Amino acid sequence: MDIKIQNLQKVFKTDSVMTQALNNVSLEIKDGDFVAIMGPSGCGKSTLLNILGLLDNPTGGEYYLDGQEVGHLKENERTEWRKGRIGFVFQSFNLIKEMNIRDNIMLPLNNLKLSREEKRRRVDEVMNRMGIAHRSRHYPTQLSGGQQQRAAIARAIVSRPGLILADEPTGNLDSKNGAEVMALLTELHREGSTIVMVTHSQKDATNADYIINLFDGQIVETLKERM
Ligand code: ADP
Ligand code: MG
Repeated sequence: MDIKIQNLQKVFKTDSVMTQALNNVSLEIKDGDFVAIMGPSGCGKSTLLNILGLLDNPTGGEYYLDGQEVGHLKENERTEWRKGRIGFVFQSFNLIKEMNIRDNIMLPLNNLKLSREEKRRRVDEVMNRMGIAHRSRHYPTQLSGGQQQRAAIARAIVSRPGLILADEPTGNLDSKNGAEVMALLTELHREGSTIVMVTHSQKDATNADYIINLFDGQIVETLKERM
């Protein structure tokens, strides 16, 4: 998916407090790119990722996804747009505790027009691929952190989205599980997915094509990691 944002602004207003979380951010991400976003805590990384993932709207500027302006959509329109197109992976996994792993992974397919057989087939396929097929009937809390994150990635990719967004996906994992999760994301990138990942880890960021450094709501640097 091609991403283009221009002069993006995000101001949060809560009571008397106003926070400028993003200030005049412009960037282009080409279809198939793997981009890492880095920067100190509070610099706007999650805010930017949430806007890219249509979880939130900017308060100024423009956002184009595959050439279509999506920065001013209403909440229900954003939800509709995300379906089957954008997959999100969070640091805290965000699996639904009351649902088993299989049902969690099935969720993004519920509203897609696919046959029941096709849905089952896709869920089996991603569970096998993520190495969690044997945990299908387990509940999230019965899984290790690494397995939960693999389940969350399975849920993010089951609808075969063109864009995968990951907010510190290895932040709650030990180094072995973190490395496995990074290997999976790198593999998805090689298969053609566009990936934008927020990370604190310089090592994780080396998997990306380039690194965008944010500071205080602004892009201060873009580094080509690989040539
Ligand atoms: P990062 O992910 O880089 O740590 P965030 O994007 O979460 O930073 O936050 C950037 C700034 O915006 C911070 O000052 C944060 O307190 C503020 N912020 C983020 N989300 C909200 C919100 N929903 N309401 C008010 N302020 C927010
Ligand atoms: Mg954050």
